[in-house]
Amino acid sequence: MTDFLLANEVAIRLSFFFGIFALMAVWEWFAPRRALSVSKTLRWVNNLGLVFLNSFILRLLFPAAAVGMAAFAQQQGWGIFNYYSVPDALAIIVAVIIMDFVIYLQHVMVHAVPLLWRLHRVHHADLDYDVTTGARFHPLEIILSMLIKFATILLLGPSVVAVIIFEVTLNAMAMFNHGNVGLPNGLDKWLRFFVVTPDMHRVHHSIEDDEANSNFGFNLSCWDRLFGTYREQPRAGHQGMTIGIRNFRQPKQVLWITGLLSLPFMGKLSGYVINRREWHDE
Ligand SMILES: [Zn+2]
Ligand SMILES: [Zn+2]
Repeated sequence: MTDFLLANEVAIRLSFFFGIFALMAVWEWFAPRRALSVSKTLRWVNNLGLVFLNSFILRLLFPAAAVGMAAFAQQQGWGIFNYYSVPDALAIIVAVIIMDFVIYLQHVMVHAVPLLWRLHRVHHADLDYDVTTGARFHPLEIILSMLIKFATILLLGPSVVAVIIFEVTLNAMAMFNHGNVGLPNGLDKWLRFFVVTPDMHRVHHSIEDDEANSNFGFNLSCWDRLFGTYREQPRAGHQGMTIGIRNFRQPKQVLWITGLLSLPFMGKLSGYVINRREWHDE
């Protein structure tokens, strides 16, 4: 099983990526939640261009990727799950949940540390919110994420199966909850008890600081509820809210791939963004 997964890791991930992407693209086409403010073609060419660049850089720097690290940890007997014998199914479930918690913490961190916020701004500066936003990250943030993932795997010792399940789920959920789509109210409310929905994560892309510093989760919704960062809806509603960052709205900077790559190096270093969770009417 492990050998099969290792040998076909790329194929498995790519088929899930293209499958879910196509599904979301069709859904957005037929039932968009909001009207886009810039041309879809232009956004997709640039956002997806960045995604391809990131995949290329990752393959170049870390050819064995996270699954390779999990196999290595297993060989060495490193990490909690390689140290203690835990039933396979339980080990997979717990490992996936812990890795999701680490992703939540990492997301809070990139908002809290000014230097890291510069990188993460690339994800937030998108003027619209759709399936391509979900994979739009600066290459340096992608590398940082991979290093954090490696460290987590070395300490935790999840199986190759657990890592693949986690990566495929995270990727699929990121595309789902960045979708320019909406679920019926009742379904959204019910689903939110367990996982992050498009409406829940859209709040996080608001131009308002306090809303952007909410709903950090990508998969399970429990982390935001547990740590007090949960926010139900945007004040202006999903149609009325503004997506993006206040001082970065020129298309050349936030739309074109050249602008996205240089975005972290623009502007002065400002204070801790995460402390601005209060909202005052000006
Ligand atoms: Zn964020
Ligand atoms: Zn996002």
